[in-house]
Amino acid sequence: MGNTIEVLWTGGWDSTFRVLYASLIEEKEVRPHYIADLARKSTLRELKAISDVRRELEKIDKNAAERIKELTITPITEIESFEDITQSYVRLKKQAHLGSQYDWLSRYARMKNIDCLELSVHVDDKAYYFLEGKVEQKDHGGWKLKSDVTGDTQIFSCFEFPLLQISKTEMRAKAKELGFIEALEKSWFCFNPVGNAPCGTCSPCIYAVEEGMGYRLTKSGILRYKTRYLRKAARLPVRVSRKVYSKLKS
Ligand SMILES: [Zn+2]
Repeated sequence: MGNTIEVLWTGGWDSTFRVLYASLIEEKEVRPHYIADLARKSTLRELKAISDVRRELEKIDKNAAERIKELTITPITEIESFEDITQSYVRLKKQAHLGSQYDWLSRYARMKNIDCLELSVHVDDKAYYFLEGKVEQKDHGGWKLKSDVTGDTQIFSCFEFPLLQISKTEMRAKAKELGFIEALEKSWFCFNPVGNAPCGTCSPCIYAVEEGMGYRLTKSGILRYKTRYLRKAARLPVRVSRKVYSKLKS
């Protein structure tokens, strides 16, 4: 692997922590990859976060900032299809919940000939169900699929998991201790921003609150988080009545 690492940088807390820690503390050269989902409202906001993090890191350590190479941006629709990977993903998904990103990320890694794409998966993430007992820790600290693992789980073999056992609040403490918290705070997590603020109701917002990071939401974001079930229920009859209305009209 040498001193260069390939990292999926989403602009989120975990992958930003990884990029900062690797460049600043481990003095590694970081090749960041970003997959653009153009259907998602947060795409531009995430790219802005990545840029903001870089600028903030330049203030902390110019050399570390230079170790982070140019961002490779690929639209999700440009990822090559590999039937064997997608078939494996579909079979795994039948066993337990598995996000579609593991299909396209695995295809992306193959398309780019990357055998070690770092993903910020955590033991609490749903994907860990498929990794438990099948990964081993490498000398440099990251976790990788054991070489004797066969079958569909192999779609994870092109990944490495450097943050498997560290929580968001532990990352925060570490970033404070090591002097890069200002840069880490420039990361972004909400899929569906309201104006410039996190929505409080999308999955990453909900996880942020549940994982002790609620301070990153604004007051109105927290209010939307607390009332999210009520709001969902309140919206439902409107949709139903619209449907009924259009039926009545036709
Ligand atoms: Zn949100």
